[in-house]
Amino acid sequence: MKYNLPELPYAYNALEPYMDEETVRIHHDMHHSGYVKGLNTALEKLQEAREKQDFALIKHWERELAFNGAGNYLHILYWENMSPKGGGQPSGKLAEKIDSDFGSYESFRKEFSAAAAAVEGSGWCLLVYSQDDDKLSILAIEKHQNQLIPGMVPLMTIDVWEHAYYLKYKNKRADFIEAWWNLVNWKYIEERFDKARVKGCC
Ligand code: MN
Repeated sequence: MKYNLPELPYAYNALEPYMDEETVRIHHDMHHSGYVKGLNTALEKLQEAREKQDFALIKHWERELAFNGAGNYLHILYWENMSPKGGGQPSGKLAEKIDSDFGSYESFRKEFSAAAAAVEGSGWCLLVYSQDDDKLSILAIEKHQNQLIPGMVPLMTIDVWEHAYYLKYKNKRADFIEAWWNLVNWKYIEERFDKARVKGCC
């Protein structure tokens, strides 16, 4: 097994009351875990194909690799960019950059929430940074395996698949998004931003 499911950086119930324990448990232990298993299976099958020099199913396994690899990456970022001591506002260079690229923190938050609420079906909303043009952007992603843009480094994300909120918030995704802001781990996101500015990646 090449990839392992990372432990959560906090207890299952640590994000209460904004995110309930049962949702976090199912989300991490079953959904995220499923991506890790799918990623390892895809890597094994691709290695088998390489050894046999039989690429008849290459399209299928490449799709599985992209779907599960992106799912694993985004879930790790999602867990890390939340904290029981989250909320508040960013500081330092990230705060300055948000002001300059979005007008103000309030304006950024409004735009990010609107983009997350408007994702059709299942998906994600991300704050990303491109070192090439020194710019922050918001990406609303419906199919995570084919809508990440090379060069744009994910700094922060919210999972808006129904499994992320439905037990507690039912169809009220906007209420989940509003509550989620109380969990945002700005310190972690600022560190990713600082790395992305210097190295172009995280
Ligand atoms: Mn998820």
